[in-house]
Amino acid sequence: MSTLLKGSVVSKSINMELTKEIEFLNNNGITPCLAIIRLGEKPDDLSYERSATKKLSGLNIDCKVFAFSASMPQEELISAIRSINANNSIHGILLFRPLPKHINEDAIKFEIDALKDVDCVNPINLAKVFTGDETGFAPCTPAAVIETLTHYNIDLEGKNTVVIGRSMVVGKPLSMLLLKENATVTICHSKTRNIKEICKSAEILIVAAGKARMVDDTYISPGTIVVDVGINVDDDGKLCGDVDFEKVKDIADMITPVPGGVGAVTTSMLAKHVVKAAMNTVG
Ligand code: NAD
Repeated sequence: MSTLLKGSVVSKSINMELTKEIEFLNNNGITPCLAIIRLGEKPDDLSYERSATKKLSGLNIDCKVFAFSASMPQEELISAIRSINANNSIHGILLFRPLPKHINEDAIKFEIDALKDVDCVNPINLAKVFTGDETGFAPCTPAAVIETLTHYNIDLEGKNTVVIGRSMVVGKPLSMLLLKENATVTICHSKTRNIKEICKSAEILIVAAGKARMVDDTYISPGTIVVDVGINVDDDGKLCGDVDFEKVKDIADMITPVPGGVGAVTTSMLAKHVVKAAMNTVG
């Protein structure tokens, strides 16, 4: 059986680190605060909102939910974002995407103040991820993957690391963060040929394909470290990853479970980014 890379263990260590910083902020009269902007009531958004609010409140980070109708006009959304940007008691902004189709997401991205953009929506922060500039904010999920590997002392330098997925939310920024750690990175996607052979050559395999249990034993060589970013609900209504855990667990050296793996660390990274944004205001 592979060693489990448990998200709860990583989260606990992040929380300990954050508690000290939050205390410091409180002593300076600051309570870190996240604004969550949601249009409509998509179940995925509501579920993430619940877990983020629970995690952050437990750390004494305020969460203000700005819930709007899915038919909100673009101009009204821009006004709301500008007023949140101008509110000095709010340090971070999380905007649920994708936005409804009538809204031009490209126009909205630039509206979020880069200094409060804790989930890397603004292209300024994305550019920082691509240039290796740590003054910005990486998207929380890729940051959670790096945090998990680092916590378990998994050295990335020179490692043959394969990422399945090239989305702007996970695959691409994650590949840049891995490069910054000096990993040798191969990105696979839906048009990649010989994907199984490429994955079998990986020392570290990170899967963010959005396909339930896609990666099975035919993708894995003994000794591989497997990180499963996927969150899916299978036909029986059960939560599962992009990796077929049962088929892989006796081959991989280490593996993140779903649930209980990367997802658990993502909300902690969100908390970490809100605290970083609040600390930046102290100077
Ligand atoms: P996406 O659909 O935007 O992108 C999926 C990527 O996988 C694409 O680049 C596509 O080319 C690639 N892909 C799809 N099918 C493939 C195949 N058969 N072979 C090879 N590549 C394939 O998804 P996303 O937003 O990047 O999310 C990926 C997964 O991560 C999803 O399961 C999502 O639910 C999950 N996710 C988890 C967290 C978390 O906190 N753990 C956060 C965000 C997303």
